This record gives sequence, structure tokens and C-alpha cells, in this order.
Amino acid sequence: MLIDAHCHLDFAAFDPDREAVIDAARRAGVEHFIVPGTMRERWQPVLALGERAQFSVCAGLHPYFIDQHQASDLAELDSLIGGHPDIVAVGECGIDGRFEDTLEAQWRYFDTQLALAKQHELPVVVHCVKANDSVAKRLRQRALAHTGLIHAFSGSYEQARKFIDLGYLLGLGGAVTYSRAKRLHRVIRALPDDSFVLETDSPDMPLSGYQGQRNEPCRVSEVCNSVAALRDQTVEQVAAFSSANARRLFRLPPES
Ligand SMILES: [Zn+2]
Repeated sequence: MLIDAHCHLDFAAFDPDREAVIDAARRAGVEHFIVPGTMRERWQPVLALGERAQFSVCAGLHPYFIDQHQASDLAELDSLIGGHPDIVAVGECGIDGRFEDTLEAQWRYFDTQLALAKQHELPVVVHCVKANDSVAKRLRQRALAHTGLIHAFSGSYEQARKFIDLGYLLGLGGAVTYSRAKRLHRVIRALPDDSFVLETDSPDMPLSGYQGQRNEPCRVSEVCNSVAALRDQTVEQVAAFSSANARRLFRLPPES
């Protein structure tokens, strides 16, 4: 059985047919979904999904939406997490190096969310684009006991190793399905079995063959196929490793 360790099923892109998308994923063998919260106004819809047995949810302030966050959202996040023991992680938070003009604010929000994760004894779900080295350095300094997920990892083997040595898991998604992703393929071949999870980042990051379309959690099975082929393992092995890793990190109940 598969877990989509990172999907935004709360997003408006799924409003017309959310139940059909969930059904299609379950038919494709996806038993559980981890949904991160990206901004204050999304936390309640995410928590509503979290009431369903096959969903686990996180709450955070995503760097992509930095202009829409307010400093008071951080205090709000603190009390939200304190009041909802079912929240499994702080996130999605992190650093997106493509947006240089907001980097200072991004680091401010990220640092505070790392402190919240530490205080609430939760892992973090990290969005990290063009910032692997500086984020790894900060995670080392912060030394979170419950570590976290570097979602949609794309970087070198050395960068992967830094995160793994700190106890973080790497999220593997649609990028692995592109034949041109040679460096990522080399990284995936070298990863230890206990270091990765599978994800889609739906509705974003479409797989090869689906460019321009909405991404959906059912395609985590295709991500699994690609990872298995690269690692010369069976699809069942990759599904079992990645699901066990997600269960361990997010402290999910055992498979029913
Ligand atoms: Zn995301």
C-alpha cells in the first residue's frame, strides 16, 4: 500500500471533484494522504480533511505565499498546533531561493516555525528550492529531535547526504519520472531504504507524460514504479519502505 506523503488536496483545484480524485487514488493503492497547510486561511479546510481516517495533516506558512502572511499568523499557528494534537507536523514551511527579494522575510518565518516544531515536539515539512545548503546548515543548528521531510528533493548526492545524516527524509515525486533528470536518478539509486518517502505535491509538479495537467495523488503509484526501476527493487519493496518511513516520521497508526 502507498502513502502520498505530500499532496494539497485542500486546494481549490480539487473543489469540483475532490471525492472522485480520492477514490481514484485509493483504487491505485494509495491508503493514506499527508496534507500540509500553506497559509492561515487554508488551515481550517486542511483540518477538516484531517478528520477523515485516511488523512493526516500539517499546518504551516509556505514561503511561496510570503506576501500573504502576517506576523500574527505565527502566534496563531502556535495556538492552533497546541489545540490540535492530531496535527502531525509543522509545514509546509521553508525557503524558496527563486524569490530573492523576500528571502529575509522567508528566513524569519521559517526560523520561527522551526522553533514551533521544536517546542511542540513535531517534525517539519520543508519546501526547499535553490537553498539546500543553507537550509541543511540551519537544520543542523536547530537540531530538531523529530527531524522532518525535505519535500520534492532535487539536489546533489552530497546535499541528500547532509539531510539524511541529520535524520531527515527526502520526498521523491514527479521529477523522478523525467528521463532528463540524470542527477536525481543517480541520487535515488544511492539512497538508503530508510531515507525516502513518495509524494506527488498535487496539484503541482505533474509527472512526465502529464505536463500541463493537474497532478493527482493516484500518480504516486507511477512515482513508485519509476523509483523501483531506478533502484532495481520491486514496486512492493519501494512501497513498503516508503510507507514505513512516512509512518515513522509522522507517527501514523500502523497499517490496518
Ligand atoms: Zn507542497
